Amino acid sequence: MTSAIVVGSGPNGLAAAARLSRAGLDVTVLEASDAIGGGTRSSEMIVPGLVHDHCSAFHPIAAGSPYLSTLPLAEHGLRWLQPALDCAHPLDGGSAGVLSRSIDRTVAALGDDGRRWRQLFGPLAANFDDIIADATQPILRIPRHPVHLARFGAGAALPATTLARLWSTDEAKALWSGVAAHAFYRLDRPFTSAVGMMLIVAAHAEGWLVAEGGSQAIADALAAEIRAHGGVIETGQRVTSVDDLPPHDVLLLDVSPSIAADILGDRLPARVARAYRRYRHGPGAFKVDFAVEHGVPWTAPECREAGTVHLGGDIDEVVAGELAVHRGTMPERPFVLIGQQYLADPSRSVGDVHPLWTYAHVPNGYTGDVTEAIITQIERFAPGFRDRIVGMAVRSTTDMARYNPNYVGGDIIGGASSPAQILFRPRVALDPYATGIPRTYLCSASTPPGAGAHGMCGANAAARALASL
Ligand SMILES: Cc1cc2nc3c(=O)[nH]c(=O)nc-3n(C[C@H](O)[C@H](O)[C@H](O)COP(=O)(O)OP(=O)(O)OC[C@H]3O[C@@H](n4cnc5c(N)ncnc54)[C@H](O)[C@@H]3O)c2cc1C
Repeated sequence: MTSAIVVGSGPNGLAAAARLSRAGLDVTVLEASDAIGGGTRSSEMIVPGLVHDHCSAFHPIAAGSPYLSTLPLAEHGLRWLQPALDCAHPLDGGSAGVLSRSIDRTVAALGDDGRRWRQLFGPLAANFDDIIADATQPILRIPRHPVHLARFGAGAALPATTLARLWSTDEAKALWSGVAAHAFYRLDRPFTSAVGMMLIVAAHAEGWLVAEGGSQAIADALAAEIRAHGGVIETGQRVTSVDDLPPHDVLLLDVSPSIAADILGDRLPARVARAYRRYRHGPGAFKVDFAVEHGVPWTAPECREAGTVHLGGDIDEVVAGELAVHRGTMPERPFVLIGQQYLADPSRSVGDVHPLWTYAHVPNGYTGDVTEAIITQIERFAPGFRDRIVGMAVRSTTDMARYNPNYVGGDIIGGASSPAQILFRPRVALDPYATGIPRTYLCSASTPPGAGAHGMCGANAAARALASL
């Protein structure tokens, strides 16, 4: 029987293992941590019974993932839940830009800017399945739906600051800038609209869904599918060298390029090793999970219904904050992302105590404590928040990298969203998953299509591995 080893059990490692085991290979997944899931882990952290997502929280792309949607994950317990509103971006005056799954509701809330919102995102959302099918593949290939992809690409190629000129109201501009800031890059550079556009189109097509019981449910469902096909998952197994691995026919690495270079050592062709070592990482995340009594007392009522809340003030503040972080300077008021998954999934709360997921964008490797800056940003839009905090768990960029070695310097998206790395990651190659060693592939978020719990990097790499056999 052909055997495969997958190093790392993030969503990409698990998707790869699922594809290989369903194809009849004898699959073993080796995971360094004691728990499976990588960026899809969840657990109690602060108050018994309160469930926190350690990393990923919202899953519009996983729900629409061309590969994950072919798997019977619902049979393994995965259930998606939809918050009343996808995202709110409050402003100092008490108003907010609001993104709903319903494009009609979003357009109505955006007033004068609604028409242009619909013109840009309406046709893309209507063709989401075609767009995501192409957008989750490497760039150097013939697209299956060129017209839809070209329409998406025309906006995606623009700097987010240029696309922002479509809108005139502070609310629409702020809402756009906050979603675009998921690119984790200075927003005045080409292709910084790509991530934001994909997230908005996915919001209208799928919704910014959460997994019932926590994102861990995604990993658990994938693991159940792997085991159902005879695969084995071993935790507490950090792989440091390919020489220590049992015999195998195929090897997939769900790790960052520099870790892959360490593991593969001298076997890696010199030009690939150079590219992996030169691979650039993005800014870091500083994460604080809170246990909050009675929820957050937001001033803008829309924030009380939104799964995600973006805190960064107006577009100028968001753009300046992202530029500072990109340049290695910590802004006084960082861009902060808030997750209120419990609004869609009350099973994560205990009575009237709720888990609040937050992180701030900070420079890569930043060593300072950002807890107070995060609380101050929340207080700015929700006076009285501080008094409702029951407990918190803090993770700096260093803690992030210790928790998951793929998060180099706290980079949670598997590499900087520079124009070059948006198009070609981890290096310019016809097959970006190939390492140059026969039947050995990189399959982490540092390969196309990049970050997210969609599993497409793993599924694509596994398809190449199967084709090679
Ligand atoms: C705070 C935060 C918020 C996020 N929010 C979202 C969100 O809302 N939605 C979304 O879609 N995505 C989100 N993401 C991103 C998402 O989690 C990642 O893009 C995704 O998990 C990448 O998957 P992966 O399989 O490539 O790698 P990972 O999830 O990083 O998994 C890699 C695994 O490999 C293991 N590993 C590493 N080195 C070794 C080794 N040498 N030997 C054995 N095992 C090893 C690690 O322990 C880890 O389990 C977020 C991430 C973070 C941290």
